[in-house]
This record gives sequence, C-alpha cells and structure tokens, in this order.
Amino acid sequence: MTAEESVRALHAGETAAADLVDAALERVGDDRWGAFLAVDAEAARERARAIDAAPERPPLGGVPIAIKDALSTRDLTTTAGSRILEGFRPLYTATCVERLERAGAVVIGKTNMDEFAMGSSTENSAYQLTRNPWDEARVPGGSSGGSAAAVAAHQAPWALGSDTGGSIRQPAALCGIVGMQPTYGAVSRYGLIAFASSLDQVGPFARTVRDAALLLSQIVGRDEMDSTSLEWPEPIRLPEATELRGLRVGVVDELMGEGVEPGVRAAVDAALGRIEELGGAVERVSLATSEYGVATYYLIAPAECSSNLARFDGIRYGKRFEDATDILEHYELTRGSGFGAEAKRRIMLGTFALASGYYDAYYLRALKVRTLIRRDFAAAFERVDVIVSPTSPTVAFRLGERVQDPLAMYLSDVCTIPSSLAGLPALSIPCGLSQGLPVGLQLVGPAFSENRLLDVAHALEAAIGFDAHPPGIP
Ligand code: GLN
Repeated sequence: MTAEESVRALHAGETAAADLVDAALERVGDDRWGAFLAVDAEAARERARAIDAAPERPPLGGVPIAIKDALSTRDLTTTAGSRILEGFRPLYTATCVERLERAGAVVIGKTNMDEFAMGSSTENSAYQLTRNPWDEARVPGGSSGGSAAAVAAHQAPWALGSDTGGSIRQPAALCGIVGMQPTYGAVSRYGLIAFASSLDQVGPFARTVRDAALLLSQIVGRDEMDSTSLEWPEPIRLPEATELRGLRVGVVDELMGEGVEPGVRAAVDAALGRIEELGGAVERVSLATSEYGVATYYLIAPAECSSNLARFDGIRYGKRFEDATDILEHYELTRGSGFGAEAKRRIMLGTFALASGYYDAYYLRALKVRTLIRRDFAAAFERVDVIVSPTSPTVAFRLGERVQDPLAMYLSDVCTIPSSLAGLPALSIPCGLSQGLPVGLQLVGPAFSENRLLDVAHALEAAIGFDAHPPGIP
C-alpha cells in the first residue's frame, strides 16, 4: 500500500498500526540492500500498539516511516554515516521527525547515507554499502541512498531525506521513486546534522506524488528553533490535477546536451510529449549560468561544511581518543580517524576557499555567481511556470565506478545543484526506464510554488504510468 492507502485503511479500521509496522519490520529484517543503519523493532512495535490502543487515531494513523540518519532521533543512534558519531545518541529529536511522530507516524529505523551527506552514491558511508533495488550491482544514488532504497524496495512506504545539492532528488531518480526538495526554509532544520546550512533542506521520498505531498504537509512551517524556517503561506494540499492546460513549461537547453545519456534524454523527451498531451506548452529556456553550478557549489558547500564540522572535536560529541597527551593531539587523533576521505577533502577545500588572501578570489566570487544563477531562474520564470530537465544525467551507475574520481561523482548533481543554489523547490518523478533502470524527471518552480509543482507532477505521473516496482521485489 501507499502511505495514503495505509492511512485510509487505518482510519477505516481495516488494519492496525501494529500490523503495518510488523510487515515493514519484516522487510527491514531482510535488508539485502543495506538501507538501514539502526532499527529498534521493539520500540516501533510498542509505539504502534500504543497508537492502536489510543481512544482517537492520530491523522497519520500509525503508518511506518524511515528516517535518514542525518536527522537526530533521541531514541535511535544518529551517526550521519560517520565514524566520528558512532553510537551517538542525540539529546533531542529533530523538529520534523517530532512533528511526524505527533501526527502518528512510526519511525522504523534510520537509513544509510554518505558521510555528512557528502556524496552521490552512499558509498561514502563509513558503515556499509547500499544497493539499488533495481540492480544490486548499482548504487542507489546519494547522499540519501538508504532512504531511497528503503522506499523503492517497499521496506517503508515513505521516508525523509535531506538535500543540499541533489541528495533527495538524485537518489529518488536512480531508484525510480518520487523525491522532493522544498523551498529553502520550508522545513525546520533543527536536529538536522548540518552540512552546508545555506543549502540544506529536509524533504520527502515516496512512491507517489500524493504521498510526497502528504508527508511534506506534515513537516512544513515555522519552528522557533530554526531562525531560517518560514511561516508557510498556505497548507500543502494533496494534488488532484489531471490536466495541464495553460501551463507553460521550460526545458533547460543547457541540461539536455552534453553528458546526458541518450536513454535519459529519450525518457525525458517522452515526458515532454505527455506534458503537451495534457495541454501544457513546452518551450526551451536557457539557464546560461547553470554550467557554473557545480563549480560554485563546490566552493560554497565545502566552505560552510569546514565551519559546521569544526564542532566534531571529540569533546562535545561522539568518538574520542582518551590516550592523547595534549589537546592538539586529541583533535588530530579524533578528527584524523573519525572523518573519512571525502569529509577531509571538503574541510580542506573549504578552509582554503575561506582563507584570507583566497576569500575574495574563491568564496566571494562563488557567492556572486550564486546570485547570477538565481537571476537566471527569475528571468526564466517570467516566461514559464515550471522548469524541467533530467534529474540525473545518467541512470544508476555501478558500485565502485566513480569512487576513484571525485569530479565524475560531483557531476552526478549537475542538474540538481542550480536550483539548490537558488533555494527553489524541485522534485523528481520517475519518467521511464533506460537499460531497465529508472530515469528521473526534475521539475523546478519559483519559491513557494509547492502546491502547483505537486499538481503538475501528479498529473504527469498519471499520464506516464510508471510502475514503481523493481523486478524481483515482492
Ligand atoms: N552530491 C552532492 C554532494 O556531494 C550533494 C549532496 C547533498 O545534497 N547532500 O555534496
């Protein structure tokens, strides 16, 4: 069942939360995809039973959910995929998770991710590999690969992830599911372990657009614990659109050319045909600065992470070395062994970009380009309502294929990074298969256009008729 169907069945008394949670836990028990890092089956069962026993069923009814391990949970270890947080138990639960629990969702476990959300394949996790349910020799994408795999493998109907430059949308695309990054500030980041604070966003994974909308509707809105969180202007509705008459859709020229696999382009072209059949008008738009997106991102994100990761000093959180003889040695031993290669690479890049003497040439320059990218989007949105492109230029790649080549890995996000830098809402829906593997279509809208974006995605999803069922998965 989808989450929406589960919620309906729970409220109709056709099933119990305990049964749904049991069924989910059974599938999590056979985790051949390596999606989960932490599961507390007994606690989840207990919560489900308590919901079933309560006089009134909460809105979400007791439906199970999986949570990316970047989100703090008081009752489950929270590692962000890093050794430096091995065994760490936060003192509080992230606001978005708390809101979901209050609405009646049952957390069944924490999902694998690239260390501190740095990566595009989940191979940077310090703990385990995660496999793509469509082909176990391939990556699920990243950094929220565990959440994407869990939903694609029907271990959970939906999950939370976080997206800094593509970490929800790209794994959603590679696993054939829906993933959404909302407008910057839509969802509280309180309790989200910070990677790059001006970019990080929490968002939903689901197998249908309506489920993604339902999940998002429960987590948006102002939280006094996160000063960047916004009062949300209107409730997130469950989309119902069946046609796209009057909608103007812009296809990004620069993101349909070089580097995009022919099979990906074909699936995206077919989706453009569907948009026209539904009454939408498709035209080409240019985001000329998008070619600088990846370069800009890899100055801004590392700069911010070099600062955010300074707090992991072996004193306040997680792992520590007791046998250091002085404080400097303590830091060196803790951070030297606690951080993996990618985290170290980014701390060095970021520290360099922020150093006096280089700040103007790199960091400040990157901020200026970020402004140009924003302006490019603003200009495009004067002509069109929604901007589309592939979500990822390729389908899921093989495990190990890009590990030795950071630049190739970074290019996985060439299509998702520009809208992240602009802080815009964007979602990925599956739009077909290429070589038997899912292709994602990315839809980007102006800030606060979530409801329209979800409507467009919902109408298109029905017209495309993608079967979100990997072969061989019951
Ligand atoms: N893959 C990009 C990176 O490695 C984006 C990750 C993310 O969105 N968290 O930084």
